[in-house]
This record gives sequence, structure tokens and C-alpha cells, in this order.
Amino acid sequence: MPSCTHRHQPLRVERLPCVVAQAFRPVAERRTLNGERRAFRVSSLAGMLVFLGAVGLQASEPRVLTVRHVARALQPGEVVVITVSSPEPLRAVRGEAWGRSVGFRPGREAGTWIGLSAIALETRAGSHAIVVTATTRAGRELAARHVLKVVAKRFPQRRLQVAPRFTEPSPEDAARIAREEARLKALYASMTPESLWAGRFGLPVASHVTSTFGVRRTFNGRTQSVHRGLDLAGAVGTPVVAPNAGRVALSDDLFFSGNTVIIDHGQGLISLLAHLSRLNVREGAVVEKGAVVGEVGATGRVTGPHLHWTLRLGGVHVDPQSLVSVLAKLDTVAPPSPPAPEP
Ligand SMILES: [Zn+2]
Repeated sequence: MPSCTHRHQPLRVERLPCVVAQAFRPVAERRTLNGERRAFRVSSLAGMLVFLGAVGLQASEPRVLTVRHVARALQPGEVVVITVSSPEPLRAVRGEAWGRSVGFRPGREAGTWIGLSAIALETRAGSHAIVVTATTRAGRELAARHVLKVVAKRFPQRRLQVAPRFTEPSPEDAARIAREEARLKALYASMTPESLWAGRFGLPVASHVTSTFGVRRTFNGRTQSVHRGLDLAGAVGTPVVAPNAGRVALSDDLFFSGNTVIIDHGQGLISLLAHLSRLNVREGAVVEKGAVVGEVGATGRVTGPHLHWTLRLGGVHVDPQSLVSVLAKLDTVAPPSPPAPEP
């Protein structure tokens, strides 16, 4: 039996591999681990979420679709990794949570599929269902319902001073803001449906966090705003790299985010890197993880030089650190590959 070396470490995120390791054991073996399961916040839920709802199945038939989740925490702003497995080979897996679709891709483990779901900042504490449907190679339709118990989260508050034009924009600036909002809306509506990223996500600047995701901010004592990204320290000119592979959907100067690079990672996952002093990539370029896309700067609405990273998943802003953490502990995400041929 695999041993769990992380369970006694204090950080919740350190417990994640244990959950993953259990996820693929046969049912009979997992049942011997009840005591161990209770030690983990996530895996205790895992016991409830195994659901098996083959459409039209008789009660005596074996479980055919198993759904599990792994997350740093089940709280607003977090990314949740959903794994789906079945003894029957699956041709396609789809999911829906909070009225939004969840894209799936084959995982590294044979027979498993991986999807990313986002808990929006506005999500209330309580039980929320994710519905997974799958089509087997043989054409059979399977379905499962998986419950996520979301816990409330308190975010810190900060008061910031920025140039007056960012809190009292001129009519020209207001018109520019409206144009850019429309441009971004259209951009986000035309992203790559297929997954372009692989493996782990890295930080765009190898430094420390100066402002976390979800902070409630007041600019110049009058403008309220939620910090829907992560700020990383960096001097002007520090290289900024792609946190993972994708297509450059935008490389331009925007009013609030300054010189900005938007990377479409596919399947609804989008990175926005803001306040750059220099843009090193062109729109349409395909970048690998770690490719230099620009340099740290202080353009747009800032209090000083830093790198701001916004991460969107299925139209929802999520904490980039939650994705970095959960994928660093999961080794089950396969590189992009074409769908398996029809039998
Ligand atoms: Zn920021």
C-alpha cells in the first residue's frame, strides 16, 4: 500500500497528494483506509462524492463512474480539480457546475479524465453540485453528481493611493475604458476551446507575493474594487514569463492594466499579465511555458512596479496561487493530445 508522507505536515496543500493517491485505488482497498481518510479535509468528502449514476442502471450493477475532487480549499476564488474515472474506456467527459461548463481532458492515469472548475468569489457557503456526464467508447451514457461543500472566506482590506485619473477619469478616458471593456468581452468570447497547457503552472515572475487575490481595496478613498489577481514583486525590467503554454490573445496598452499580455491557455483558462514596461510578444503567437513575454513595469493603475497576474477559468476570476498549488501536487495532468480514435 502506498504510504502517505504528507499527512503530518501543517500546510493543508501538502495533504493533497495523499488524496490523489487514494483516488485510484480499487474500492475494496480504499475501504480499508477509513481512518486515514478522516485525517483529510478533502478526502473525507471524497467518500461521499463517489457516485455512480449510470443512466438507467440497475442497483446491482457495478459502479461505473467515479468523481473526485482535489483543491487547496473549497472556498471562493479557488480552483478545484475534478477527476473522473471509470473501468469502461470513456470517449468524452463533460461537466457543469454553477451553470458553467467544465472542460475535461484525459489524465495521465489510464481511464481517468481531469477537469478544472472555479469557485467564484460570490459563491455562498454550503453544498454545491457538479454534474458530470460521460460517453463510453461503446456509446453508453453515464452520469454522476458530485457535491462540493464550500466554506466562507474572509478577505483582507487595503486602502491605496493612485493617480487621480484612475478614480476620476476624463470623458476621453471614460470612453477609452468603455472601448477596452468591449474589446476584452469580445476577446473572452472567442477563446480556444481545446486545452493548450500542460503540466504545472509556474509564477510569471520568480519572486514573492505583495498582494493576494480577493483583497477588498479602496482607491484614493473613493473607488471600491476587489483585487481579482495576484501581485508579485519585481523591479522594472525583470523578465515576465508565460506561466504555461498558450496563444497570445492580446499584447497591448490598456487603461487600467497598462501594457498587458493575455495568454489563452485553452478550455476557458486565461492569464492576464499587467503593468508591463515592455511587451515582447505579438498577438497570435504561440508561447511555451517559461517564454519571456515582457518585462515588469508600472504602467496603468498602480502604486509602483510589480507584476499583476489575473487568472480566469470559465469566465470566473480565480486565485492563481490555488491553481499553482493544486497542480504542483497533482501529477495526473497529461499533455494535450488528440482524442483517441473511434473503436
Ligand atoms: Zn494586482
